[in-house]
Order: sequence, then C-alpha cells, then structure tokens
Amino acid sequence: MTRARVLILNAALGPLDYRVPQGMAVEPGSIVVAPLGPRQLVGVVWEDDRFPDVEPVGDNRLRPLLSVMDAPPIPAPLRRLIEWTADYYMAPPAAVLRMALASHSALEGARTTIEYRATGHVPDRLTGPRAQALERIGDRQGLIRELAAIGGVSDAVMRGLVKSGAFEAVEVSTDTPFPEPDPDYHLPALSDAQSAAAQQMTAAVTARDFRPFVLDGVTGSGKTEVYFEAVACALRDGRQTLVLLPEIALTEPFLDRFTRRFGVVPVAWHSGLRQSERRRAWRAIASGQAKVVVGARSALFLPYPQLGLIVVDEAHETSFKQEDGVHYHARDVAVMRGLMEKCPVILASATPAIETRHQVELGRYTEIRLPARYGGSEMPEIIGLNLLTHPPERGRWIAPLLVDAIDETMAKGEQALLFLNRRGYAPLTLCRHCGYRFQCPNCTAWMVEHRLTRRLACHHCGHVIPVPKACPDCKSEDALVPCGPGVERIADEVAMLWPTARTAIATSDTLSSPVRAADFVKSVEGGAVDIIVGTQLVTKGYHFPNLTLVGVIDADLGLEGGDLRASERTFQQIVQVSGRAGRGVKPGRVFIQTRMPEAPVIKALISGDAEAFYATETASRRHAHAPPFGRFAAIIVSSDDPAEAQDVAKLIGRSAPDAEGMRVYGPAPAPLAVLRGRHRHRLLVHATRQLDVQSVIREWLDAIVWKSGTRVMVDIDPYNF
Ligand code: ADP
Ligand code: ZN
Ligand code: ZN
Repeated sequence: MTRARVLILNAALGPLDYRVPQGMAVEPGSIVVAPLGPRQLVGVVWEDDRFPDVEPVGDNRLRPLLSVMDAPPIPAPLRRLIEWTADYYMAPPAAVLRMALASHSALEGARTTIEYRATGHVPDRLTGPRAQALERIGDRQGLIRELAAIGGVSDAVMRGLVKSGAFEAVEVSTDTPFPEPDPDYHLPALSDAQSAAAQQMTAAVTARDFRPFVLDGVTGSGKTEVYFEAVACALRDGRQTLVLLPEIALTEPFLDRFTRRFGVVPVAWHSGLRQSERRRAWRAIASGQAKVVVGARSALFLPYPQLGLIVVDEAHETSFKQEDGVHYHARDVAVMRGLMEKCPVILASATPAIETRHQVELGRYTEIRLPARYGGSEMPEIIGLNLLTHPPERGRWIAPLLVDAIDETMAKGEQALLFLNRRGYAPLTLCRHCGYRFQCPNCTAWMVEHRLTRRLACHHCGHVIPVPKACPDCKSEDALVPCGPGVERIADEVAMLWPTARTAIATSDTLSSPVRAADFVKSVEGGAVDIIVGTQLVTKGYHFPNLTLVGVIDADLGLEGGDLRASERTFQQIVQVSGRAGRGVKPGRVFIQTRMPEAPVIKALISGDAEAFYATETASRRHAHAPPFGRFAAIIVSSDDPAEAQDVAKLIGRSAPDAEGMRVYGPAPAPLAVLRGRHRHRLLVHATRQLDVQSVIREWLDAIVWKSGTRVMVDIDPYNF
C-alpha cells in the first residue's frame, strides 16, 4: 500500500487520502496518526473502495502518514458495522468510529496506575472513620477515591491511613490480563425447559452462525442461567461474548451471579471507568484476551476480534436507545453486529418489544419460550385496585386495601416493594397564594422537589436550586405546596403508617454508584429492609426471595402522555415490577392502583393475559401504520434563538419532497420544547417500510442552507412518536 484512505477521528471530516511512507506497514483497520493542517490526528485506515465520494487527490499532493499506533487493527466486520450504522442512522462515520476507539483514552492512557491495598498494620490512632474504612474495605484494592467510597469516608481519611502505614501503594500495569472465566466452574442443574432452550442456543454458538434468538421467559424463569450456557459454549470455543445490560445499577448483581457460575468477574465496560481501567479493558478486548465483556450500550462498538455471542439482557428496555450523539438503538445494532460477525444474538426479555415480536412472526428471529418460573415458584397473584371506588384517604396515595396487604406482609416478616416511577418528593411545587410554579429556566419542565437533598431539581438538564422559604413572585412565606407524589413522599407516608418498618428508597439518586447499588442489594437480601420504595430502577433484574408484595402506586402515570408507545411501556414496566414478587418459595401478590380499570392494557395486566395485550397492541399499530408496520424519522431543529429555530423548521417543512409513501407532520414544538436552553422544533416523517427514508431525507436536507447556530438532527426510528 502506498496510498491509504483514512477515516479521521473528527466528526466534521469524511475520509481523507494519505501517502504511506516507505517502511511503514498498514492494512485496512490499522490505527494511524495522520497530519491535518498543523494538527496530528488519530484515524483508521479503510478500504479505498468504501467511501466513493472522497475527492480524489493527486499522488504528488498527498501528505504522508506519521505513524502506526501500537494497537490491534479494527477488524473488518466492525468496519462494516460502522459503515452500516453511519448510513442507517445518518451519522458521520467518524462519530461512530469514535465509539469503537472509546475516544482516545484507550490508545493514549498511561501504562501503569497506582492503587492501594491494606497492609494489615493497624494505625495507632484508630478513629471511628478509620476503623470503619478498614473494616469495609477489607482486602479490596483500588484508587484512594474508590476506597474512600467503599469505606464511606473522605479522601483525607484514606490518605491518613496510607500515611500511617495501614495501606500501601501498588503499581498496576494496564496491560495486566484479566483472569479467564471457567465454563465448568459451577455447572447448574437445568430444568428440562431450560436445557432445551440452552441447547438451541449452544448449537448456534458452535455452528458460528448468525442467528437472532428471542429468549422470552416469564420473570423468574431463569433466563440468565440459560444464556450462561451459551456463554460457556463460546468460552469453550475460545470466542468472546458481549453481554449488554440496560443500566449500570444492574451490573453489580450480574457480576455476582457471573462469578458464581464462572469463578471470576467478567470485564466491565461503562461510562464510570477511569482512564487507566478503560485502557486496560479496551486493550484486552481488542487483543481477544478479554473473553466475556459486560457493559452498557457503548460496549457494542468495541473491536472484539473473535466475537462468538452477543446477549442483550432486558432487551425491551428503552435505555438501549441512545438519545444524544449518534442516535442508535443498541438492540437493533446488536443484531446487525451478529450478522457481520456471523454469531448468534440472544435478546432476553419477559416482555419483548412489539417490534421484536414482529420479527419472530416474520420468521427472522427464533423464539424460545420459558413459560414457568424456575424451581416451582408460582407467578404472583395480580389484583387490580380501582382508585375511583376505593380511594386512599385525603392527602395519601396508598389505598386502604393495599395498606391492609402491607400490614399482613409486615406481620409475616416478609418484604414489600412500592413502585412509583417518579424521583424526588413532588413533581411540582406551587405557591398557594399567587399560583406561581417553579419551572426550569433552561427547559420546558417543572422543578422537582427533592427533600432528601433539600433542593428543587430539573430532571432534564440537572439545574438545581435550594428550596426557597418564600414565593419568588408574591414573597409570601410558608405558601409553597408540593403537588403530587414522588417516591420520597410515598416513603413519608410509609414512615407514618409503619413507623417501625425499615424503608429504603431506591432510585438513580440513591443508587448512583455500583457500590451503593451493591449495598442496597446486600441490605435487602440480609433482611435489613422491610419496605422498598422505588422507581423503574427496581423493576428488573433483582431477585429477592423474601419479597412477596408489590404495590404499583399509579399504573396510569405512563398512559397520560398518550403517545403510541404508552401502553406498551406501561405493560412492560408493570409486568417487570410484578415479577419481583414471590420469586422464592413464598407466594407473591401484586396490587395495581388505577383510575382506568377499563383501559385494555390495565385489563391485560390484571388478567395476566399477555397474548391479548400483544394482539390488541399489534392491531392498533398496524392500523396506525406505526412501527413495525411503518416507520418514523424525527427531524429536530434546535437553536438558542427561538425565532431562528422556528424559521429553519418551517423552511424544512416547506421544502419537504413529495415522496411516495411518505408524510410529514409538523413542524411543532418538540416533546421537550426547550432543553438545556435550546429551543427545539420537530418534524415527524412517517413512511412505509419500503421507502428508503434516509436517502429521501439526505437529499431534502442537503438542499437547504441555514445559519450555523442552528442544529438539525435526524433521529431514525425515534422512541417517541
Ligand atoms: P429471570 O432473569 O428469568 O427473571 P433469573 O435468571 O433471575 O430469572 O432466575 C431466577 C432465580 O432462579 C435466580 O435466583 C436463579 O439463580 C435461580 N435459578 C434459575 N435457574 C436455575 C437453575 N437451573 N439452578 C439453580 N438456580 C436457578
Ligand atoms: Zn432543565
Ligand atoms: Zn406566590
């Protein structure tokens, strides 16, 4: 190769051609450093027939590449995936490539890092915090910051412990290999249904075939144990496995279970990694040494050289849809990656998305069902609680029948979970005198009161203010009232009704780090919690055998918006949270509080008839030509200047092409009309499945010129429509 086409890691640039200096060996996939103006940028060598639009440059005008990075090349299947993702989601290829290289830190991070571990020496001055830190940290090793978090002390206490000789520094190489999971470490005894399911999947792993599976098993059916067999099979075959989880909070329990089955923890990949950890993980993945990787959606684009299996757990979860940067759906890209890598993909869920079910109907995905819980535990009994006829007392949210059920549960020494998908104390605060409402200055959103931190917070941009004493408008004191409940308010009601019960609030605020999530799991498992009050964070993954009662405080909450996905989302959430009840030997009960007992989704939940729900929902989607029967794309125009955003959106609307099979709705203010100070307008493109909607939109937008302060972003298959 004397000439190389290089995709530079800069989203504003397309691929550029370079000269390969004599003596430098590059091939497609090589990670190189290339000059651009006065700068030196990282890029990846690409096949030169892949981006036909690149401006040809004469040989004599080519600049030479500067060097080749000391890292394995980006494999061909991943290069194809990057091209596909960029093309399908209308993103710059370099922005997708950035996810594969995990920005630069994977390449440039330090080769060693200093961690600390206990020496066994007890300091002379053993203060309370010091004793606590020693006890909690045990023989764990880590950075000062991490150990301080585990020990529940300040960094200063940790540094004091180092100085006193209780901890010592250890140099850790970021090239240290990860321990290898042992497929035979602990073999579970699978039920017949589980074995049959596992067998289909292991056969596909061994065959090294692309095969999408939908592992559709009721909550507690043991889906994890089943797909672990497929993981074991990939391990025996010497191939890598990627397991995608929807939230970091679920990682900790997953790591535990994985360790029990395979003897060691898998390699974790998420946004919380430090640079040195990121570098170590990336290198181990790219060299093929890391055999099992568990991660958030960003782990999907890493350069696995020998991928043998992809698992997407809780595959219906909305957090797999990325909503900033490259807008992609990790579930769909995972299937595409399986196709490129020729390996099976397992989508595991008790409530598969309508889109996923449809692929099964079309015969594209193989469905494997686990209709019963593992080990003979029964599905919980579901009880609908009509709030119109059985309302709670004034100013309360827990209806008398649910209060009785909690009484019984407490009397038996069992645990209860109350679910309300709203963080904080109250979703809205207003002034009783003048009606003033606290709104975020940057977003179209109310400020949510958080009593635990004594603040009002915007859940969209993070803006916080202290809770004021007086109304900012009419200055009356003691006139501010909270409206509606959040989990903190329900916890207050619980504390009033059951003063001796031990309550834990479980939300992304309280379980913000893996350590805190692990503590939470431990205290529930150990029986130190009687009543959990939580948001969607506690609806999935957790297995608490003594938890026998689930109360859904407001089943109608998600139905209010009225978007086409509202029913599906409600169904999934409530089935998932119900699935936390009665997972052990004791039977479970679920109370669903609702004001809409006649709504089809609520009826299906109460009768437990999932098939009926899917049938009605599929029919109404078909009728509306909504996904999976038609498709949507959103064009979102945003600007600091409200008039500018609106003008550009209107201009785009006026220039809409007359394409067969396509209709354009809007522009209208986007669902969040102002977000982080940017004014947003949305056009919704509705098209048939046959239409190449990306090409149409590309041509349409290419013909329009707007000022650079306005951003136009396309969201293909948006979650909200
Ligand atoms: P799901 O993910 O389908 O809700 P889990 O995989 O969490 O279900 O399994 C539920 C519980 O049953 C877990 O505690 C799990 O360890 C246990 N379990 C499932 N299958 C087996 C098995 N074959 N042997 C032992 N325990 C099992
Ligand atoms: Zn805001
Ligand atoms: Zn007021």
